[in-house]
Amino acid sequence: MKSKFQPDENGYFGQYGGAFIPELLYPNVKELADNYVQIIESDEFQKEYKSLLKEYVGRPTPLYLAKRLSEKYGAHIYLKREDLCHTGAHKVNNTVGQILIAQKLGKTKIIAETGAGQHGVATATVCALMGLECTIFMGEKDIVRQAPNVARMKMLGAKVVPATSGSKTLKDATNEAIRYWIQHPETFYLIGSVVGPAPHPDMVARLQAIISEEMKWQLKEKTGKENPDTIIACVGGGSNAAGAFYHYLDDEDVELIAVEAAGLGVHSGESAATSQLGQVGIIHGSKTILMQDEYGQIKEPYSISAGLDYPGVGPLHAFLYETKRAKFMSATDDEALEAAFELTKIEGIIPALETAHALAVLSKIKFRKDQVVVVNLSGRGDKDLEIYIKHLKE
Ligand SMILES: *Cc1c(COP(=O)(O)O)cnc(C)c1O
Repeated sequence: MKSKFQPDENGYFGQYGGAFIPELLYPNVKELADNYVQIIESDEFQKEYKSLLKEYVGRPTPLYLAKRLSEKYGAHIYLKREDLCHTGAHKVNNTVGQILIAQKLGKTKIIAETGAGQHGVATATVCALMGLECTIFMGEKDIVRQAPNVARMKMLGAKVVPATSGSKTLKDATNEAIRYWIQHPETFYLIGSVVGPAPHPDMVARLQAIISEEMKWQLKEKTGKENPDTIIACVGGGSNAAGAFYHYLDDEDVELIAVEAAGLGVHSGESAATSQLGQVGIIHGSKTILMQDEYGQIKEPYSISAGLDYPGVGPLHAFLYETKRAKFMSATDDEALEAAFELTKIEGIIPALETAHALAVLSKIKFRKDQVVVVNLSGRGDKDLEIYIKHLKE
């Protein structure tokens, strides 16, 4: 039987999803929609994908029982170490998979948009690996703010195109990418999270599902059971959470917790807690929950972590929120910073600021002593050092 968390034939999770795209892109999106499941499930794809994940990305990533963290919060807390992936986060699981799909469809040019630059780097990385032409769209403002990632992308051979319209940030880069895609339909649009027109949200979830696939056998090995009691993951667009939840979606006894960035406070006006602040609307080609003003204009989100300040969530997450299958929580900038310093101090792991939001809810939950909790450690904190230095206490 098909899971209710799989999209229907039109790419809808309940009322969310679909493909709201200019007509000129229809053939492209249809080509992908008609082929992606068959490609992903083929032996040939699985062999190449799994081999790259092992040899290039460094999978399986460890599932590490964090003893001192467990002691502190009174539960068995495991960390799924996506921070140890090549390029420093889970994002590469997706770009490795999509580049293989692009090749199977005969595409030789890749486009992508990026906000903080992490997805741009992960995309430029696999394009370098495969020798494919790579164009990355990035808001002019973000290009200035994220100079090291721009340098990485250029070093990897990508062309970085500034988006100079609107607020000169991620949503403008997305508009530019879609405009370019219309003019160059032979390109493959490599989207970085479980967002965008169908089939992208489902395709990206399937490519990140390797996280929970590994969690199952790793937990079985370590605890005798495949299922934890609770899984916690941060949510920007929702891809690392989708990957960590994927194989547990139908096991209703596994509690799923999605953590959004509350910025300076959920109701401060400077936040990215989409599920609490958003309404139904269309962003990035799909129907979902997004932060918008009374005229339906997208509101600029804010978070200290560049990877979480996305004004929407993917349609699967909107559905998980609406059906209450996942519990949505939030953490502020300060709470995330505190959690990042704590993990570093007591486990010797410097997490990404995004990831620190997931860690920050540990102190807000009352655990049972025998509760098995997995926190998806989505990325490492090297990229955030400048912010950490500013908040370092002697
Ligand atoms: C990009 C990023 C995120 C947010 O993206 P999702 O699609 O929600 O996973 C979270 N953590 C890290 C480390 C990231 O780089």
